[in-house]
Amino acid sequence: MEGAPQQVMWFRRDLRTEDHPALAAAVAAAAGAPVLPLFVVVPGPWRRLGDPARAYVAASLQALAQDLGALHVRTGQPAEVLAELARELGPLEVHATAAHTPAGMARDDEVAEALAAHGSRLVVAGSNYAVAPGAVTKPDGTPYRVFTPFHRAWAAHGWGRPVPRPATLRMLDLPGEPLPRAAGPVGTTMPPAGQDAALARWEAFVAGPLADYGAERDRADLAGTSRLSIPLRWGEVHPRTLLARLDPDRDRRFVAELAWREFYADVLFHAPHSRTRNLDPAFDRMVHDEGPAADALFTAWAEGRTGFPFVDAGMRQLRAEGWMHNRVRMVTASFLVKDLHLPWWRGEREFMRWLIDGDPASNAHGWQWVAGSGTDAAPYFRVFNPVLQGLKFDPDGAYVRRYVPELAHLAGTAAHEPWKVLDGYAHGYPEPIVDHAEEREEALRRYAAIRPS
Ligand SMILES: Cc1cc2nc3c(=O)[nH]c(=O)nc-3n(C[C@H](O)[C@H](O)[C@H](O)COP(=O)(O)OP(=O)(O)OC[C@H]3O[C@@H](n4cnc5c(N)ncnc54)[C@H](O)[C@@H]3O)c2cc1C
Repeated sequence: MEGAPQQVMWFRRDLRTEDHPALAAAVAAAAGAPVLPLFVVVPGPWRRLGDPARAYVAASLQALAQDLGALHVRTGQPAEVLAELARELGPLEVHATAAHTPAGMARDDEVAEALAAHGSRLVVAGSNYAVAPGAVTKPDGTPYRVFTPFHRAWAAHGWGRPVPRPATLRMLDLPGEPLPRAAGPVGTTMPPAGQDAALARWEAFVAGPLADYGAERDRADLAGTSRLSIPLRWGEVHPRTLLARLDPDRDRRFVAELAWREFYADVLFHAPHSRTRNLDPAFDRMVHDEGPAADALFTAWAEGRTGFPFVDAGMRQLRAEGWMHNRVRMVTASFLVKDLHLPWWRGEREFMRWLIDGDPASNAHGWQWVAGSGTDAAPYFRVFNPVLQGLKFDPDGAYVRRYVPELAHLAGTAAHEPWKVLDGYAHGYPEPIVDHAEEREEALRRYAAIRPS
């Protein structure tokens, strides 16, 4: 039949139906006709996802398909898949949430071109952020490089109300491939996936930990944070939905954390190279250790065998849960960069292998903040002491005991300082692989060498 184009909703990192501008636009454009809900499995990126993230996305797609009543899956390069669909179904209007990562933008340019060649078009609406990357700039039009003024401009820019879920979701159930299946790694406990689980987590956070968030967010031993980084990463919840429930004064601290996510997305949007390379080119001169000895230290760090309990607990939490507490991300990252003198991008890649919330912007810039090569970085001379950090942010040692069984027999702060008690090493916990005081001096020497005096 000649006539209206087939409306397609192409889901990417927006696996929800609530507060979804592109889905609302697709349903409105269909004017009562069914919308084709589509997910494209792109072999390279799908394979490169860490095992926990791949398993999580597969589970989230199951939940989305159930919510929609259908989800058409195809494997291939998006430009080819969509051109093929246009050949099969006739002209398409493909709705999608705007992408802002370097890879996502390049993909969408290609898709728009391929669709145009088939009398079809890509229609983008909304973004994965409250304020789309690139939308706020300094008065002179240049991007912000420092968080505080960005945060101010971001809050002043503001955002709309959440977009209601369409009253009816009439979806086209076109036979395709089965939903992708992927098991999580043995030993990793996967969190529940999908929009319902995300919204339930949010409700539980609002009813509980939010009130004490400012005071408890840094405590690794407490469940004081939202753990919404995973749903935010995969778009099972939109930040606007969260912001609509928050009071800018009362919940200042939590709103600021959401702003950090948006700040880093904005920085990456303006400086795509910073995904894998130093934002501050002065750091290109930094000397890093290499070779078999450095590789052995890297492996000890990655496997949680450094002999520094707080660091090891963090790296083991990463593998056990596909997630790590923010304070411990900072301490483990600092240890790799400043105690082991390894480049931040090695750690960034290891985090990506395991983090379900692994995000190109937040991960690269979280690492660069620690390394000192990014925006608004911690002063280079601030080197975290991994033992004192543990004593401060896990004051009773409960976090260490939870993740490091070789230290589970040690009461209280002894879990952070097994060298101070007779039976500290009774269950095979390794001794420290480096001397922190010496490595701190070494790090400062290397930093001094790249900084003009
Ligand atoms: C080395 C390093 C790597 C990191 N890699 C990632 C990553 O790949 N993906 C990721 O989402 N976060 C990353 N972070 C930021 C932060 O650690 C996590 O967002 C946070 O731990 C998630 O837990 P939560 O949802 O309970 O956070 P909450 O404390 O509840 O914060 C709410 C939300 O705010 C955002 N947020 C909080 N802190 C930050 C921050 N420092 N930077 C950016 N966004 C923030 C997240 O979306 C988070 O879900 C990294 C931080 C460091 C130091």
